[in-house]
Amino acid sequence: MINPSPAFYNAPSIKLASLLTANSCFDRVFFANSGAEANEGAIKLARKWGQKHKDGAFEIITFNHSFHGRTLATMSASGKHGWDTMYAPQVPGFPKAELNDIASVEKLIGPNTVAVMLEPVQGEAGVIPASREFMQALRALTSRHNILLIVDEVQTGMGRCGTLFAHQLSDITPDLMTLGKGIGGGVPLAAMLCTESVACFEPGDQGGTYNGNPLMTAVGVAVMEQLLEPGFLPAVLEKGAYLRAELLQLCQQHGLQGERGEGLLRALELGRPIGAQLMDAARDLEPFGLLLNSPRPDLLRFMPALNVSHAEIKQMITMLSDLLLQLK
Ligand code: PLP
Repeated sequence: MINPSPAFYNAPSIKLASLLTANSCFDRVFFANSGAEANEGAIKLARKWGQKHKDGAFEIITFNHSFHGRTLATMSASGKHGWDTMYAPQVPGFPKAELNDIASVEKLIGPNTVAVMLEPVQGEAGVIPASREFMQALRALTSRHNILLIVDEVQTGMGRCGTLFAHQLSDITPDLMTLGKGIGGGVPLAAMLCTESVACFEPGDQGGTYNGNPLMTAVGVAVMEQLLEPGFLPAVLEKGAYLRAELLQLCQQHGLQGERGEGLLRALELGRPIGAQLMDAARDLEPFGLLLNSPRPDLLRFMPALNVSHAEIKQMITMLSDLLLQLK
């Protein structure tokens, strides 16, 4: 049976949930079909927790330039330029703070605040990491105010940053986490995880026809087992360091501005708005093209498959270097 609906448990979903909880600080898992839907689940769970435990508090502090998805609530949570008016009115209750500025968060905390939600590395914004100090200060601040800390690890989780989850780099324990993208290795699978003390959904509070179906969760089990193979995550870190070294060399050779990121989520700062031009030229290369991604005009983002080889990284760098020479 491909899809028994979430009304019934199924073996692969139980196995994947067990693997996720055994290897994280979380106790409960709810599967979804996309990152945005997992984030909607996290927002709903936080609001329900606020109704039960914090006098109906519902505001979730999020960050300028953040990206949490394309549903109305997750667009409202996102701090992407222009999204506040695009499908107005927005879903209320998402005041925006500045990443890596703890005072900007503290200023927004009030009686209606139920949670703070952030990406450990802002992906769509151009690979901007939250600092270790900021993540730790945020955990301390939210604990002090009895506010939930939600990490959106749709882009940073599942080994992308060299640890299973990026918040582990800061040695903190969030209350909720969302996963997407890599968890399905390319098929539509996402998840929302929480600790026991936050798990206040009753059956039927959240759901969907395809949620946790055994076909997708079986893929998730295969992905998870691969990530947990001894040596796999250290190899991601090592290849991330190699990509970083190669990008830094490109910077030197071509007078570019710099590079940043964690693990195999990295960005090259071009110093001038040639991202789109590079993308087009790279795609059209003969005998085969290179797919680049430029989330900002002056920046390229690199998110290669976690099993990318050194030779493939080198080949990409060589192709990119040739293109940069041509653009001069
Ligand atoms: N959250 C983050 C941090 C993302 O990067 C994305 C997608 O880019 C999403 C949420 C939305 O995920 P999906 O496109 O699967 O809805």
